[in-house]
Amino acid sequence: MNKENKQKFLDYLDVLFPSVKCELNFSTPFELLIAVVLSAQCTDKRVNLITPILFEKYKTPQDFANANLREVEQIIKPCGLYKNKAKKIILLSKQIIEKFDGNVPNNLKDLTTLSGVGMKTAKVVLNNIYGEKVIAVDTHILRVSNRLGIVDEKNPDKCSIKLEKIFKGNIDNLHHKMVLFGRYHCKAIKPNCGECKLKDFCKYYKKLVKQDKM
Ligand code: SF4
Repeated sequence: MNKENKQKFLDYLDVLFPSVKCELNFSTPFELLIAVVLSAQCTDKRVNLITPILFEKYKTPQDFANANLREVEQIIKPCGLYKNKAKKIILLSKQIIEKFDGNVPNNLKDLTTLSGVGMKTAKVVLNNIYGEKVIAVDTHILRVSNRLGIVDEKNPDKCSIKLEKIFKGNIDNLHHKMVLFGRYHCKAIKPNCGECKLKDFCKYYKKLVKQDKM
């Protein structure tokens, strides 16, 4: 993507989403970490329905570390993959206590040593809690970036590193804006191409038009 189109993309995101914030509800770094782990293959809305119940019962890493696995499973069941997620959040709580004095680490290297925490989860925490200029690539950002031709990369972690280089200097809220763009505008099924202002340089749209003409 050339410099001019990159700017058009950034400007369009600003128009569509002038003020953005994380759609997961949380009040501490630890709560955000747990919420992000729960959000794997689940909507933020559903996670937000479950976390108040979960955090009412378990407030600290210590509470989770001592939690009964079956009880945690029952509470988080509506999130899907609940058996796996329950194990992960109990284990990562123990690791936070043992390795990091009960505090959520503030760097990528340490965060990704925790159970269930990959680059995406770690970067959501780094961006939202510590204000780091990183782009956590989820399914929406991966799709949008490839459709528009910003990258040609199917691996989310590699895509994240490439996007951070491409948008260096413009990263502040970019992660949130790109997620919203993918979630509500450039949707997986039936993207809003008709009204999209990025049509003239979107690779995916050009391909659609070409197929229609054949
Ligand atoms: S033209 Fe369509 S596919 Fe391309 S960015 Fe816009 S909504 Fe997405």
